[in-house]
Amino acid sequence: MTTPETLPPPEMPTGAGFDPETVRRDFPVLHRTVNGHPLVWLDNGATTQKPRQVIETLAAYYASANSNIHRGAHSMAREATEAYEGSRAAVAAFLGAASPDSIVFVRGTTEAVNLVAQTWGRANLGAGDEILVPALEHHSNIVPWQLIAKERRARVVPVPLLPDGRIDQDAFADLLSYRTQLVALSHASNVLGTIPAVREMTALAHRYGARVLVDGAQSVAHFPVDVQALDADFYAFSGHKLFGPTGIGALYGKPEVLTAMRPWQGGGNMIDSVDFGRTTFAAVPHLLEAGTGNIAGAIGLHAAIDWLTSLDRPAVEAYEKALTEYAVRSLATVPGLRLLGSAPERISVLTFTVAGYDPATVAECLDQDGIAVRAGHHCAQPALRHYGLESAVRASLALYNTPREVDALVASLQSMQQRD
Ligand code: PMP
Repeated sequence: MTTPETLPPPEMPTGAGFDPETVRRDFPVLHRTVNGHPLVWLDNGATTQKPRQVIETLAAYYASANSNIHRGAHSMAREATEAYEGSRAAVAAFLGAASPDSIVFVRGTTEAVNLVAQTWGRANLGAGDEILVPALEHHSNIVPWQLIAKERRARVVPVPLLPDGRIDQDAFADLLSYRTQLVALSHASNVLGTIPAVREMTALAHRYGARVLVDGAQSVAHFPVDVQALDADFYAFSGHKLFGPTGIGALYGKPEVLTAMRPWQGGGNMIDSVDFGRTTFAAVPHLLEAGTGNIAGAIGLHAAIDWLTSLDRPAVEAYEKALTEYAVRSLATVPGLRLLGSAPERISVLTFTVAGYDPATVAECLDQDGIAVRAGHHCAQPALRHYGLESAVRASLALYNTPREVDALVASLQSMQQRD
């Protein structure tokens, strides 16, 4: 039997300004045990763990600075407002946006897509219009479009995939037409790992006058993003997949698109003046942020961004690439293992099946060894069905994962097979 030890040692970049062991020290949870084994957290596609810098920022905010924002006329309200707006500026810089006014705080990617569908979509989609959606999208970048398309008598048109999990660019070019109002595509697939050619696809879509929404849920933790270089009209991400808190995320919108958007939810914060005769509204981004937002979450997200951007990001990217290649080679030694997707440009997501084993059983066996992976449809049923599957196992790696943890995954899979 081939064991991980017989593989050539991982070709990890050395002296490249990034050491996963140093980074791991920032994550308290990575040092716990699960079922008597050191935790191996390979469920980063679902959510990442949080560094102590984020945890401490949240605790400090609630311990000494908690206040509602914008409407308070006291010192702590002003401080909280400054911190909240400081986070907006940090998100703008993180995404390469020209102004903080282009950033709307939301609960996460799902809420961002729904917001665009319900405001921009309702105002701009009409009978016979088309929304192109690649078949690898997460359900949260499919269903909101189906809902608004039904209401507006528009159509959601899937863009097919190639066998390796890339988007079929010829089909995309053929499907684009002057009926296309929107292209909704992810910057990295949560199941196949594919990084689509977003900039090129956006340029092509713009030739037809279509807008482009980019789902960045899986990209922001893995590589730097520049929304202006991509020329994206909208860009969405979730803080919890970026080493930040749950319940906070951001939607970027191009200034001319965002300022033309109608209110989504009504309430406090989003108005200028309310009267039963006539209500006037605040400017974006506040127009799209009704009610009390996740103030602590936004401040925690700022801490997460500061933490991530303090690292040598090219070195992190090189490390993740090498780790992914090592994981692909290691998993290939497991008999009957089938890896889905082999696009040349990819993030560290490894979705697979093991012949003769139900994915849920595989995940349970790994859990017994302290290894957290996910089994199921990963909210991307069309992508799995492209491979004739309803369910698969997904190991998704982050910058704090190590070759040793990949070895643990492979050894656990092999011992599962030896037990039977
Ligand atoms: N898009 C993609 C590509 C995702 O992976 C996810 C989360 N799995 C989402 C959207 C939805 O993110 P959230 O649940 O944080 O709104």
